[in-house]
Amino acid sequence: MPRHKTTDPGYTNPHGQRVIAGTGFPSETFPGQKIYHLRCTHCGHDYGANGTDIHTRRCPRHQDGAKGEPLREPPPNLFSA
Ligand SMILES: [Zn+2]
Repeated sequence: MPRHKTTDPGYTNPHGQRVIAGTGFPSETFPGQKIYHLRCTHCGHDYGANGTDIHTRRCPRHQDGAKGEPLREPPPNLFSA
């Protein structure tokens, strides 16, 4: 039985922080890691976190967690720039 990875969309950690999706953008604080879109299931706050942080992440808004990494929307058309 495969283990449920903390980076899988739908994973929720013990603090109620849920993985929405991987953004594909590189982490600004942890070289080699990607930023994941997390959402607090308590207050609905959206923020970014790198892959190593997900299982211990606390909500930056109401659980006194560390400030999230920036969430950037992917460009609508990669070839328009
Ligand atoms: Zn929250």
